[in-house]
Amino acid sequence: MADDCLFCGIVAGSIPSETIDSDERTVAFMDINPATAGHALVVPRKHSADLLDIGEEDLTAVTLAAQRLTKRMKEVLGADGINLINACGAIAWQTVFHFHIHVVPRYEDDPLKLPWIPEPGDSDEIAATAARLRGDNG
Ligand code: AMP
Ligand code: ZN
Repeated sequence: MADDCLFCGIVAGSIPSETIDSDERTVAFMDINPATAGHALVVPRKHSADLLDIGEEDLTAVTLAAQRLTKRMKEVLGADGINLINACGAIAWQTVFHFHIHVVPRYEDDPLKLPWIPEPGDSDEIAATAARLRGDNG
């Protein structure tokens, strides 16, 4: 547990939350600023800062818990779809530095919009970036 971590406090029960699911490795609770009705967060019990820091077993457990919640939200809330969202790093909108997956139920009439405008990219640039990611030429 990290002393000054909000989500460690929620896992420990010293900070109140609306918990909706838990297992050996994970806890899921409602987000206090919901993007849509039912927006929840799944966290590992053990502190890790972000996607780069979390261990494989915790990542697996959190992902499976998110899938469990996805099924539940479809059944119980009548969600038409679900977005799983993870922010890794402040520039990527992370504000709480204890790994979490947002489970956001989506409804036909909800107000959420894609945060980017899909436009065709430059194919040479895409290929060059792909080559860097593959590690071509060294
Ligand atoms: P992120 O910005 O991706 O790091 O997500 C952090 C999320 O935690 C935000 O959606 C906040 O609304 C949510 N949040 C902050 N404090 C609490 C809290 N005490 N209980 C539940 N959710 C919280
Ligand atoms: Zn923590």
